[in-house]
Amino acid sequence: MSISTSVLSELLQAVPYLRPQLYFKASLTALSHAMEDQVLAATLEQPLVIASFQRERFYRQEAHRYQRLALRSNQIYVLSAPETDFANSSEYYEKVAFEPDDGLSQEWHLVVIANNYATCLVCRESLGSVAKNQQLREISPSLDMDTSRRFEGIWTSERGVSLKAADLLLNRISVYRPELTDKIEEARQRFEIGEYKESFSPTPDEASASVGEIIRNFSCDIDTDPFVQRLVTYLQASQYKLHKAYRSISAQARKERLVNSISTAIRRSLNPEEVLKVAVQELGQHLGACRCIVYRAQKTDTQAKIEHEFLNSGVSSVRGKTWQLHNNPLFQEIIIKGDGAYFADTETDERLISSKSTANLAKKYSIRSWLMEPVVFQGRMLGIVELHYCGSKPHQAFPGEFDLVEAVATQIGAALIQAEAYANLEDLNQQLEALDRTRRNLIAITGHELRTPLSTIQVCLESLSTEPDMPAELRQVMLNTALSDSDRMRKLIQDFLTLSNLESGRIEWHPETLTLQECIDLAISRISARVNSETQIPAIETEVSDSLPMVRADGDWLVEVLAKLIDNACKFTPPQGAITIKGKRNGNQMVEVTVADTGRGIEPNRLEIVFDKFYQEEGALRRTAGGTGLGLAICRQIVNGWGGKIWAESTGKDKGSEFHFTVPLAVS
Ligand code: ADP
Repeated sequence: MSISTSVLSELLQAVPYLRPQLYFKASLTALSHAMEDQVLAATLEQPLVIASFQRERFYRQEAHRYQRLALRSNQIYVLSAPETDFANSSEYYEKVAFEPDDGLSQEWHLVVIANNYATCLVCRESLGSVAKNQQLREISPSLDMDTSRRFEGIWTSERGVSLKAADLLLNRISVYRPELTDKIEEARQRFEIGEYKESFSPTPDEASASVGEIIRNFSCDIDTDPFVQRLVTYLQASQYKLHKAYRSISAQARKERLVNSISTAIRRSLNPEEVLKVAVQELGQHLGACRCIVYRAQKTDTQAKIEHEFLNSGVSSVRGKTWQLHNNPLFQEIIIKGDGAYFADTETDERLISSKSTANLAKKYSIRSWLMEPVVFQGRMLGIVELHYCGSKPHQAFPGEFDLVEAVATQIGAALIQAEAYANLEDLNQQLEALDRTRRNLIAITGHELRTPLSTIQVCLESLSTEPDMPAELRQVMLNTALSDSDRMRKLIQDFLTLSNLESGRIEWHPETLTLQECIDLAISRISARVNSETQIPAIETEVSDSLPMVRADGDWLVEVLAKLIDNACKFTPPQGAITIKGKRNGNQMVEVTVADTGRGIEPNRLEIVFDKFYQEEGALRRTAGGTGLGLAICRQIVNGWGGKIWAESTGKDKGSEFHFTVPLAVS
C-alpha cells in the first residue's frame, strides 16, 4: 500500500495561484527550525504540527526536538519512510511510517496550525539535484553535497493554503494509520480543516504576500520573536560560512595563480639546470624567503652540493657548499614521511638538540626558520627545495604557504623529468642518426665495395669448377685471386664495423698516459710483421725527442691510427723512398704527430676528400694498392674522439705526403 501522488502537486492543483520557489536544503532546515521554535516558545496553544521527513535518517537528527514539541501539543504527527526502527507508534506523538516508494519520500513538509497562526512548508526535492549530487559524491566523496540539495515548493503563512496542506497530509495519515481517524477528526474540527475548499480566490495581494506581510499577519496576536530570532541566527551562520568560503577560495585562487606563474616560468626551458635556476629564483622571490636553494638529491644520498640559490640582500651565500644530509633531522623526516619538514624556530627546536652539526649550520648561515620540501616525481625523490628565513624572529608562515611550496616542488619535479626526457630524446635522436649513417654505409659497401671482389671470387671458382683441364699455373692464379679478394672483403667488413662503432659512439675509451715513441714502435712492429720477404717497404725513421711530454689517449686506438698512416705511406711510396715519423708540441695542450713520406703525393684539391669514406684515387675498379678506402675515415673518427685534429699536406703529385694529427698532452 503506497501512494505515488505528490502532496505538492495536489496543493498546487488546489491552489492554482501558488508559484513554487527554489529552496536549498540549508534554507529549508532554517525555516523548519524557525517554525518549530515558534511552537516551542509556547506562544501557540495546542497547535497541530505535521512534519514529513523523507527518510528516517533525516528525522533521526530531529527526534529529540519532536519530543520537546510533544510537550506543547497532543496533535503532532511525524511521517517518514522507515529504514531501521521507525515504525507506527503513538508514544510521544504520532509516528507514521509510510512506504519507501510513497510520493512523500521525495518531499519535505512541515505544517503548523494554531488558532491564531498557520504556516506551511510544502516542498519536493528536485530529482536533477539528487542525480547531480550523486555524481558529485562519486567524484569527490568528501564534498558536503547535502546542504546544496535543492527543493522546489511553497512556504506560506496563508491560513487557507496551510489548512489545505494539513488536509492533504491528514488524508495520507489516515490511510497509513486508520486507527487515528477520531484523533484526526478532532483536529479537523478544531481548525476547520477540509472546509476551506472554495475559499481560494487568487487575489494579486494574496498571491504576492511578502515576508513583511507574513510577519505582520501573525504578529498581531502572537510573539514572533522565536521565529525571527531563529532565522536571523541561521542567516548569520550562513553568512559567516560564506565569508569563510570566500576567504579560502580567494586564498586558493591566489595560490593557484602563483603556482601557475611559477610553473610557466619553470617550464619555459627544457634544460634541467635552467629549470632549477628559474625555480629557485621564482620561489624565493614570491615567498619573500631570505634564501631559497634547490639541489638534486636522492633518498640514499648523504650529502649534496648547493648549485642553485636565490638570495635576498644582506644574506650570505651557500652556493658551492656541500650540505650534509644524513644527519639533518629535516631530511630524515622527509625520507620517513615523504612530505616536507619544517623547523619553525631553529633556536628552540628540540630536534636540533641531538643534531649539533645541523644546529651549527643553522647558526652559521643565520637560518631561523627552515623549510625543506622534497621534489618528487611518481614516488621518486629527485631533489630538495629549501627556504630559509633569517630574521631575528621566527618566520610566520601564511596559511597555505607549505601547500604552495609543495605544489611548486611538484611542478619542479615534472619540469625536471620533462627536461630529462627531452635530453634523452636528443640522445636517442643522435643514436638514430648514427644508425641511419651505418645503414647508408652498409648499402654503399654492399652496393659498390663488396660486389666487385665477390664477382671476382665467383668467376674464379666457376672457372675452376667448369674447366677441369685448366693448366696448373692458371689454376694457381685463379685460387690466389679468389683468396686475395676474399681477404680484401674480410678487411673491408672489419673496417666497416670499426667505423660504424666509432660513428655511433658505441666505443668505450680507455685513456692512459703514454709515451709517443712506444706507440710508434708498436705500430711499426705491427707492419713489419705483416710485410713478407718479397715485398719491400721504404725505410722508416722516427724523430721524436726524448723530452717530448707524455700523451693521454687510448693506447690501442693511437697505435691503430699510426699503423694506418704508416701503412698508407708504405703503400703509396716506392721502396727506395723514405718515411719519417715526427712528434712535437702543438700549443699548450697537444702533441702533433706527423707521418711524412716521399711517395706519390696528393693533389691539393684532394687533401680533404681523402678522409671521405671509400675514397680512393684509383677509383673502385683499379685498386692496385689494396686497402679498403676506410682507413683515413677511421683515423679521423678516432682522433676526433680524443678531441684532436687530423689533416693531410702535400705539395702535389709525386712530391710526397704528410699526415698530421694531434693528441692531448697528459697533465702532469
Ligand atoms: P685505403 O684503404 O685506400 O688506403 P684510406 O682511407 O687509408 O684508404 O686512403 C684513402 C685514399 O687516400 C687512398 O686510396 C689514397 O688515394 C689516398 N692516400 C692515403 N694515404 C696516402 C699517402 N700517404 N700518399 C698518397 N695518397 C694517399
